Amino acid sequence: EKPVISNFIRNIIDDDIASNKWNHPVTTRFPPEPNGYLHYGHAKSICLNFGLARDYGGACHLRFDDTNPEKEEQEYVDSIIDAVRWLGFDWGDNKFFASDYFDKLYAYAEFLIEHSLAYVDSQDAAAMRENRGTHLVPGTNSPYRERTPAENLDLFRRMKAGEFADGAHVLRAKIDMASPNFNLRDPVIYRIRHAEHHRTGNTWCIYPLYDYTHCISDAIEHITHSVCTLEFEDHRPLYDWVLDKLQPVIGWHPQQIEFARLNLTYVVLSKRKLISLVEGGHVDGWDDPRLPTLVGARRRGFTAAGFRLFTDRIGVSKGDSWIDMSVLEDCMREDLNQAAERRIAVLDPIKLIIDNYAENQSEVCYAPNHPLKPELGKREVPLSRELWIERDDYMETPTKGYFRLFPGNKVRLRYGYVVECTGAEYGTDGEIIAVHCQYLPETKSGTAGADSVKVKGNIHWLSAAHASAVEVRLYDRLFAVPHPGADDKDYLLDINPLSKQVISAYVESALLDMPAEQHFQFERNGYFVSDRVDSVAGKPVFNRTVTLKDTWAA
Ligand code: ATP
Ligand code: MG
Ligand code: MG
Repeated sequence: EKPVISNFIRNIIDDDIASNKWNHPVTTRFPPEPNGYLHYGHAKSICLNFGLARDYGGACHLRFDDTNPEKEEQEYVDSIIDAVRWLGFDWGDNKFFASDYFDKLYAYAEFLIEHSLAYVDSQDAAAMRENRGTHLVPGTNSPYRERTPAENLDLFRRMKAGEFADGAHVLRAKIDMASPNFNLRDPVIYRIRHAEHHRTGNTWCIYPLYDYTHCISDAIEHITHSVCTLEFEDHRPLYDWVLDKLQPVIGWHPQQIEFARLNLTYVVLSKRKLISLVEGGHVDGWDDPRLPTLVGARRRGFTAAGFRLFTDRIGVSKGDSWIDMSVLEDCMREDLNQAAERRIAVLDPIKLIIDNYAENQSEVCYAPNHPLKPELGKREVPLSRELWIERDDYMETPTKGYFRLFPGNKVRLRYGYVVECTGAEYGTDGEIIAVHCQYLPETKSGTAGADSVKVKGNIHWLSAAHASAVEVRLYDRLFAVPHPGADDKDYLLDINPLSKQVISAYVESALLDMPAEQHFQFERNGYFVSDRVDSVAGKPVFNRTVTLKDTWAA
């Protein structure tokens, strides 16, 4: 196990444990709204919250913040559950829905009304907006602000009973219309919505708002540390106000702690932009491997361990900053270098003919499945007279420092023989038909003579008679620039036109029978995964997860 690197949140928790502040196990939560697919940013929050619970022997709750009936769906609940599990975390019995608390939330609202801490406002939306004031001008009290608790209770109960249309009334917390913090200018805590909820159906026609619901849900579940992103810092006074006022009836007050959200270059994480990428047909659905959703990441071949490593590596801070995409990609490389077995694929094939190798003959070479894990053994790779090699492993006139095939040069066919290149055969249009070479029979890898000839180049290859053609999708970064849409430009114009290239490539035939979602390093070419959606038995599709080296470095 890796050592835990401390951070300001862990420091707070350590102090709380030292002073026995909670007399309760460390309890965190991940509180998504089930209104969309989770993205890389959510992975940071998930790894952080579940990681704290794991490291402190506490619990992390999975709570669906489902108080917006129009926007939420069971489909999103299911995909969120899958994503959190896929990232390697388990909430045990602690899966909750804010909608489970609708009765309690309602009762607490009546408590606030009875104590003159909330009132029913009947201004229309425009008047409410008008009376909110500005940064320079304090808000104006609503003409309904001094309704008596009895009046308010009557109206609130009738709101609940369905007597009024959407928007006719709202329930507001009675705090301070002159507060410099807008969130405290009598925030709305309940509104009327005659809408069917994905879990409670038509039981309710009034729904509590996020700020009111969230803190109470945290308190009901005895959360100790309510970790959220920085934009909620201004909401903390409201979080604390609600729980202070409800202290007599709830008696639990979690500490809200804010951290900087993940901002990542070369992608967009805003839900609105992700929706327009999908709906505009710029990507192939929510699980497109280029999209920064977790379903997309999984299809791309990114790994859960890679995300956990990434979260640990970037740490948590109080200041907004940008993380370069290469940091995430490097974490995936690091994990896959350990996790992925090696195989051979030729992505841009040309023929290499060994002229002194008998026709109709073949032999086996042995390739290690994992250079770092000899216990994974070796597999047989057939060699014959005609091979597929990569087009750029041959150069008629080599550039400086080019050590691969060119006339007169010797290279090693990895796991096979040293060959000496004799030149290439061209078609009438100048295209290479085949590269030719002679092999040195005493130099086979794994035999006594293997080192008798020293060469600088080492290339991969496949026997043409034994290899199989498959579809390979070469994915790259979705956007061509670090900050898509910067300077008010249309971010769609920054899409990388080469973010997806579909090719036919040759692979070892045994790969045809691979189940979906197997990760491999295709030697010298990068990390690939068998697509979990489009692969069928005998006909896999491979997605490039990431190249072996960063090709984007400035
Ligand atoms: P919206 O509020 O538009 O629905 P959201 O991204 O805030 O979008 P939530 O479902 O509210 O979605 O998020 C669940 C949790 O994930 C929240 O605690 C939120 O702070 C956290 N989260 C969201 N985006 C990021 C991010 N980029 N980095 C870190 N945490 C994030
Ligand atoms: Mg969300
Ligand atoms: Mg949110």
